[in-house]
Amino acid sequence: MEILRPAFALGNLARGWAGKSPLGGYGYGTRPAGRRGATGKGLKGVHKDVKNAATALVTVLRQDHGLPAYISEGRRSQARQNLLFAQGRTRPGNIVTWVQRSKHTSGIAFDLGFAGYDPDSVPERWWKTAGEIGEALGLTWGGRWSTPDKPHFEA
Ligand SMILES: [Zn+2]
Repeated sequence: MEILRPAFALGNLARGWAGKSPLGGYGYGTRPAGRRGATGKGLKGVHKDVKNAATALVTVLRQDHGLPAYISEGRRSQARQNLLFAQGRTRPGNIVTWVQRSKHTSGIAFDLGFAGYDPDSVPERWWKTAGEIGEALGLTWGGRWSTPDKPHFEA
């Protein structure tokens, strides 16, 4: 099932990165820019169209813009979503999500990170570049929302 109408052929772009995927489930700010050998685990269980778009987005950001982009989170279990929802409500910490039913749990969303940068310290123009490329790939970018979620992309 095709769930995205990408502006160009994602498959080829994604395949071009086979064996040197910059994708991975790294924590924010824990990896130096340009580190190789990520496994693509960050996109495990994510719908193939969204996975291809995510791979293309990271590839374009890295190759064409020289930015240390990676996938910080893809599919999320409902248990983890519940835990995140509780944060800032019934558990300590800041509110990090507004929904109990997330597109992360259905495998059609992912979050983008920039290695070495906390999401709040990422330069605004990097998010804007990422958002515009993501939209050209057929994704919805959370940076446009009334409560912006800049790292977030979904089908
Ligand atoms: Zn997200």
